Amino acid sequence: MSAMACEQAMRQFFAYLDSALAGAPLEDLEAHLEECLACCDKLAFSRQLDGFIKDRLPEAEPPPALEQRIRERLAGRPPGATDPA
Ligand SMILES: [Zn+2]
Repeated sequence: MSAMACEQAMRQFFAYLDSALAGAPLEDLEAHLEECLACCDKLAFSRQLDGFIKDRLPEAEPPPALEQRIRERLAGRPPGATDPA
C-alpha cells in the first residue's frame, strides 16, 4: 500500500509523461497508479492532453500560463490561485 495521496500523485503526471521521473518518486507513482483507478483515468486524460498540445504545436512549447492552469486544474486548486512570487 502506497502512502502517496491522489493529489500528490497528480502533481507528478506531467513529469511522468515527460519521462522526468526516476527512482523512488517514479516507483511511488507507479505503485499508486496500480491501486487507484481515479488516478489512472486522470493520467490517461493528461496523456491525451499532452499529446494533443504537442501535435498542435509541433515547433513550440505550450505557453507556460496554459501549462500552469492545467497543472492547477489537475491538482484541484481554484483558478487564479498562484504561489506567491
Ligand atoms: Zn489516486
